[in-house]
Amino acid sequence: MDKLALFGGEKARTKAFTNRAFFGNEERKGIAAVLKSGILSGFVARAGDNFYGGKYVRELENQVKKYFDIKYAVSVNSATAGLHAAIGACGIGPGDEVIVTPYSMSASATAIIMMNAIPVFADIEDKSFCIDPKKIEKLISRRTKAIIAVHLFGYPAKMRSIMKIAKKYDLKVIEDCAQAPGALYKGKYVGTFGDAGVFSFNQHKTITCGEGGVAITNNGSLALRMQLIRNHGEAVCESMALEDIDNIVGFNYRMTELEACVALAQFKKLDSLNRHRIALARYLTKKLSVFKGLALPQEGKGSRHVYFVYPIRLTEKRIGITRDNLVRALQAEGIPCGAGYVRPIYMEPIYRNKIAYGKRGCPFTCVFYKKRIDYSKGICPVTELMHERDLMLLPVCRYPHTRKDMDDVVRAFKKIYNNLSVIRKELE
Ligand SMILES: *Cc1c(COP(=O)(O)O)cnc(C)c1O
Repeated sequence: MDKLALFGGEKARTKAFTNRAFFGNEERKGIAAVLKSGILSGFVARAGDNFYGGKYVRELENQVKKYFDIKYAVSVNSATAGLHAAIGACGIGPGDEVIVTPYSMSASATAIIMMNAIPVFADIEDKSFCIDPKKIEKLISRRTKAIIAVHLFGYPAKMRSIMKIAKKYDLKVIEDCAQAPGALYKGKYVGTFGDAGVFSFNQHKTITCGEGGVAITNNGSLALRMQLIRNHGEAVCESMALEDIDNIVGFNYRMTELEACVALAQFKKLDSLNRHRIALARYLTKKLSVFKGLALPQEGKGSRHVYFVYPIRLTEKRIGITRDNLVRALQAEGIPCGAGYVRPIYMEPIYRNKIAYGKRGCPFTCVFYKKRIDYSKGICPVTELMHERDLMLLPVCRYPHTRKDMDDVVRAFKKIYNNLSVIRKELE
């Protein structure tokens, strides 16, 4: 039995796994062309052609439209900006409630607060880790205006049920697809089910231009309102003779030509990067299935998981050691992995203390919102269980890693499973 690295033995893996992005000639050529043109941003905050951005911004948007077979694409300088613009464009404002998962990157919920509305957290499913449609309906009140579904870790949320609920109660649906570009639900791209879908091109996502994102929609007036929020709408709405100026408080969420040309080149690689992730993940699933106590990711019928990370739900009792010790042992073996994901969003101080804008508690305490929203521990028990005990994440299924790298992961698991009693004796 090999001695565990945790107790001074040799590591199962000595070479670091990479988490950087890779660029090729396409990105380099694009950047050189942009620099040569002397135009780093084509945007002007005035009605007219330049209101919609420069050449590469529009080329990127056209490419995105074609890929998703959707009518409108609005590039932005982050997915956070895209979510803010989408929520604003949907007419959500003070006193409104929006139902969202607590198990996501913070921006999925903060974007609601940006419009002075109230996030209401619905618990997740313990298989998909996405919002549980069965938990949504109970939370709907006369203030509810929208649902935000996040396709977490690259796996689609249950969009059919979510859309059914939205239709029944006349709610908007915004899909946060930051971790799931190219994922499918029932054979259809995520981001194309709801009123708007939002993608991220930040450094850590499947495709990246450093910072950036795009929102997609089939609704023309929603697209225009997102464009106005992106580019100083208050200064252009009169010359565009707009009637609905609610929420048209403009920001500068414009993407530069440099980012757009990199995003464009990256976007063309999306399918091959996803194929690479999926192949490695499936290989890993096959190899890890021999270890007891691990629930490995499932791929539903008609769904495509794009494995932004590889999630494992584990049963501590069956393994015989705690998740945290398993994660510690894997990390010591040279395998990057995380115990849980983020903490439930409602545990962050702005929610716990209900302080966002100013010191008086707006929007949680506000003339338009007399209700007392509950953000206490215990409101979403499944999320809390994943956070505290059941979930671990492996961020290894990605280019340029190969099956050989996955074999190192498997070797580390094997070593640890051969030494479970040692870990129990030493650490538990
Ligand atoms: C990364 C991420 C965001 C935010 O993306 P940015 O482009 O960094 O603003 C939002 N939601 C989820 C689920 C994410 O993973």
